[in-house]
Amino acid sequence: HAKEQGRNALQFYDAAMTAAAAERLAMKAQLAQALERGQFFLHYQPLVEAGSGRPVGVEALLRWRSEAFGLVSPATFIPLTEESGLIVAIGRWVLDTACRQARAWELAGQPPIEIAVNLSPRQLRDPELVEHVRGVLDRSGLDPSRLVLEITEGLLIEDMALSRRVLASLKRLGIRLALDDFGTGYSSLSYLNSLPFDILKMDGSFTRNLTDGQASNTGGQAIARAIIALGQSLNMLLVAEGVETAEQHAWLTRNGCDLVQGYHFGRPAAADDVTGVLQGLALAHSARQIGQSDFV
Ligand code: C2E
Ligand code: MG
Ligand code: MG
Ligand code: MG
Repeated sequence: HAKEQGRNALQFYDAAMTAAAAERLAMKAQLAQALERGQFFLHYQPLVEAGSGRPVGVEALLRWRSEAFGLVSPATFIPLTEESGLIVAIGRWVLDTACRQARAWELAGQPPIEIAVNLSPRQLRDPELVEHVRGVLDRSGLDPSRLVLEITEGLLIEDMALSRRVLASLKRLGIRLALDDFGTGYSSLSYLNSLPFDILKMDGSFTRNLTDGQASNTGGQAIARAIIALGQSLNMLLVAEGVETAEQHAWLTRNGCDLVQGYHFGRPAAADDVTGVLQGLALAHSARQIGQSDFV
């Protein structure tokens, strides 16, 4: 019966594969209409100065709610939009929406903060990208120095000449560039030096590996230290992602991280909710400042 069982398992495997492929196809079809149906929205997550706790910015994170699939993780649907090329149109919408939100916060009297927007490497192949970014800045009235574009390493090295040219043009607009999820994927250290990144975002997995539960993980700490040292020696600002505990925050601050981001400071949330979170972080920061001053 072993043979028969093997055949059944194979059939089951085939059926599962077909179901997964069918779901991907159905998702792609839904995604093609998601923009016009208004199914995309943005959440924002605070970025905090490690030493002082002062909020300095937010990262815009794309969300998709479809009738058929409910709320789908960007880790699932972004790759599908990259395959179909839809990411170019969606990415423009994200950039536009995020910059207008940042400007709206400014006009509402919030302390100016930076806005970080994720850019798929696929978007670098859009010949109108640079003009679009310039247009978004003009239309929103946002100061270019407030905008950070975050790019994952992935496809960057596939066409180094193109990457170098487009990134240089983006930099000339006066915006800043962050290398996202650093340490995962295609890490080739040589291109770090040849692409004009201002900011290095250490992937959340390294923050997670600082400890094994409560106990410290010396191997994980050694790797995080090496990444921080690399960023520092290349004069890049260092951001740690995925900070969930006070212990991780303390370790990262002690070891030279400039900025921290993670659930410990605030989960990604709608613009209205994140306004309150930013105010709370700013208040806590001022309270500590006063607590440290000579007047008390
Ligand atoms: P990312 O740019 O590295 O964003 C950080 C991810 O970590 C976000 O996941 C965020 O919700 C999550 N995160 C933040 N703090 C913590 C924490 O303390 N613990 C844990 N476990 N996770 C934390 P999210 O929102 O699901 O996004 C996943 C990825 O999808 C992003 O990773 C980014 O690569 C991509 N993505 C999101 N929005 C966009 C977009 O507008 N355009 C493009 N091209 N990619 C996007
Ligand atoms: Mg990012
Ligand atoms: Mg990241
Ligand atoms: Mg990521």
